[in-house]
Amino acid sequence: MTKIFRPAAVLAGLASIVWLAACATAPVQLDEKGLEAEAWELHARMLTVDTHCDTAMSMTRPNWDVGERHEPGKPGSGLIDLPRMKEGGLDALFFGCFVGQGPLTPEGYAQAKTRVLLMLDAVDKMCEKHPDLVTKATTPAEAYRIKKEGKRIAFIGIENGYAIGKDLSLVGQYAQRGVRYLTLVHSSDNDICASSTDRNHPSDWGLSDYGKQVVAECNRQGVMVDVSHMSEKAFYDVLKVTKTPIFASHSCCRAVCDNPRNLTDDQIRALAKNGGVLQMCFLSAYLKAPTPNAEREKALKELEAKYGPQRNVRNIQDEAQRTKARQEFQAIRQKYPDERAAVKDIVDHIDHIIKVVGVDYAGIGTDFDGGGGVADCADVSQMYRVTMEMLRRGYSDKDIQKIWGENVMRVLQKVIDGGRCPGLARGSFPPRRLVP
Ligand SMILES: [Zn+2]
Repeated sequence: MTKIFRPAAVLAGLASIVWLAACATAPVQLDEKGLEAEAWELHARMLTVDTHCDTAMSMTRPNWDVGERHEPGKPGSGLIDLPRMKEGGLDALFFGCFVGQGPLTPEGYAQAKTRVLLMLDAVDKMCEKHPDLVTKATTPAEAYRIKKEGKRIAFIGIENGYAIGKDLSLVGQYAQRGVRYLTLVHSSDNDICASSTDRNHPSDWGLSDYGKQVVAECNRQGVMVDVSHMSEKAFYDVLKVTKTPIFASHSCCRAVCDNPRNLTDDQIRALAKNGGVLQMCFLSAYLKAPTPNAEREKALKELEAKYGPQRNVRNIQDEAQRTKARQEFQAIRQKYPDERAAVKDIVDHIDHIIKVVGVDYAGIGTDFDGGGGVADCADVSQMYRVTMEMLRRGYSDKDIQKIWGENVMRVLQKVIDGGRCPGLARGSFPPRRLVP
């Protein structure tokens, strides 16, 4: 990739530049200070979007205020709050309303709906309580406008199609509340499609007939169809029926890290052909293969026999039991620490997407507060470091702004334009480029 001349950073970091070409227009190699200055200069101009986090669940807790700054690393702080979003240079966040899967029964669906409504209320309450800090958005145009006002932007997604049960009309009802994506499945198969990680049902049966109706309804309602967590067959089945671009809110590349949650190169090519976008998840296990450790594996197996798979701990309905399971898994991770992935691993995955299909199909979807977080970007206050790594590798400003937000805003606008979307303005994208 070509090195870019960066006059702003040259001025900002002049005192500590380690190497400067003799000619004024030659490429400049920046040190850390220069890179950081350049990153902040870019963040001021471009829209930055993270398409997945599980923070909405914390926001339903009575004593936890997302408008207050919580000290990073302290118990109960979580990885996201509005002041830390600003510190990290993150403008927009899709607050994911995550619903752990219970039984596929009318009672189970009713409980799931109650939980979603609680989280939707929590996002509304946040916006009402902190009107000077954050505003809800449902379209790219709104997001660009709110960015100009200097506030954070709250989009909403729902993680797990279990949240609509067998009631298709809920897609429209949730869309009316501002929901702009639906992750069709989570870690277990549901009525809509097969999951990439359901160990109880290893056969991949793809997308059900009901699932096809759900995709059609999402298309009609201007809701992005999120393919993260779904099986390979379900992914291709969705592509056969969807009329608008798809979106993977938090997944990475299988060729770089062999994990069933990641997309193969064939899937990435199919997603690009459809005009979709793949948003990089910051979960260490999806970014880089863990170094084997027999003692840790043994201890984890014993715990999994007691509580079920670690990734399903969030689905444990009893709160006391869920907390206990979390603490025991956490204790094992502390006893046998693994080398966590780092920002450079995230950008390795982005490099791979660019190599396979180009820069128009990559984005960011951290999964903070849902397992995401890497060694040098451990919470939202450190997000600008991803930009620094892209600058270090010579990405152009134009490419960085696509990855940080333009790509996913392009998909959202196409999905809105393709749907019926009562109450939503149709229009061309981008409504206003922040960087000329
Ligand atoms: Zn997830």
